[in-house]
Amino acid sequence: MSSYQKGTECIHAGYTPGNGEPRNIPIIQSTTFRYESSAQMGALFDLEATGYFYTRLQNPTNDHVAAKIAALEGGTAAVLTSSGQAASFFAIFNICSAGDHVVASSAIYGGTYNLFAVTMKRMGLSFTFVDPECTEEELSKAFRPETRAVFGETIANPALVVLDIEKFASAAHEHGVPLIIDNTFATPINCRPFEWGADIVIHSTTKYMDGHANCVGGAIVDSGKFDWNKYPDKFPGLTTPDESYHGVTYTERFGLEGAYITKAVVQLMRDLGSIPAPMNSYLLNVGLETLHLRVPRHCRNARTVAEFVKNHPKVAWVNYPGLPEDKCYDLANKYLPNGTCGVVTFGIKGGRDAAETFMAELGLASIATHVADAKTCVLHPASATHRQMNETELAAAGVSPDLIRFSVGIEDAADIIADIAQALEHV
Ligand SMILES: *Cc1c(COP(=O)(O)O)cnc(C)c1O
Repeated sequence: MSSYQKGTECIHAGYTPGNGEPRNIPIIQSTTFRYESSAQMGALFDLEATGYFYTRLQNPTNDHVAAKIAALEGGTAAVLTSSGQAASFFAIFNICSAGDHVVASSAIYGGTYNLFAVTMKRMGLSFTFVDPECTEEELSKAFRPETRAVFGETIANPALVVLDIEKFASAAHEHGVPLIIDNTFATPINCRPFEWGADIVIHSTTKYMDGHANCVGGAIVDSGKFDWNKYPDKFPGLTTPDESYHGVTYTERFGLEGAYITKAVVQLMRDLGSIPAPMNSYLLNVGLETLHLRVPRHCRNARTVAEFVKNHPKVAWVNYPGLPEDKCYDLANKYLPNGTCGVVTFGIKGGRDAAETFMAELGLASIATHVADAKTCVLHPASATHRQMNETELAAAGVSPDLIRFSVGIEDAADIIADIAQALEHV
């Protein structure tokens, strides 16, 4: 599939029907798969043969869609998860245990911050959050001997800070650990983090990939490039025998291309079971087939909205990395030359109260805890997704109390602008 352009991959990658087989990815809505002998089943359990036996580990519908996402990101292997949160958790937990440490950008999705700083902390992992705009020296200081990964978002939700992926990748590699990038907002249409040195990419497929607010889901993709064998003391789970699989050593048996994802599937999915329903994966694929058409439209509409609010007398400030005056414009030009995302943030003069009035007066745009789908929607993060953060944490995450997160859909831009204009009249 690698010889095709991204748009063609959106439609065709991951599934090639044989003669007389379904043209669409079939929905294999079955928990189990039948075998003729116990010996055959045993070989599957020992990872000596490949095949399906139980959907908690693998399912053909899920695997076809995962393969499409792997192709879009230019990775070697991928697995779907039941949510973006599960993808973040599994991506880290696959290579970290109690006592280990992770360096993360402070400008990340509020749910991810909570997962790291509260829930995974209770599991004995520790996190150091760094300002994404820190110097190389400051970044380097965040590492400890027990650091096992670095984590950041291509475009942070909702701070809209563009990550200097190369800076984070070289710091990670200097310290012998992989860089994990949440590429949800950019999508592989606008940025492929592997081309800039990232090692693992995760997605909340709930957003642009699904694109229609149908299904919560996630994905983890491996570039296959990180050499786990070079640091056997750091990643024994991948480089030494797994007793829960009769002594299989993942890097030996599955190579660098397959070790990380195979371990995530056969250990973490086996034990924690965060798999998507095949029906959801089918719907995700329907979304993926138009990703290359929708993302440019989201970006065009968002740029129009950003220009409009920027020039409006009632608007205090606007954040959109696609605007030349944005502090991330240069990084956006480097990493996202074809467009950033459909999300714009701004503050209205009058702060929190003005934000609430404005939002209540919107008609076309609905207040929803969602971003990045076809329908324009709006949210006040400080009272919703980032509610658990105090003022200091909000500031570190790039979320001011008056911030309005406006997720521009793919309607006609003129109607979105008219809605914003009339709502601002009421402020
Ligand atoms: C929504 C989101 C998540 C969490 O994904 P869910 O599918 O809601 O679990 C993670 N990262 C980013 C950037 C998100 O926008």
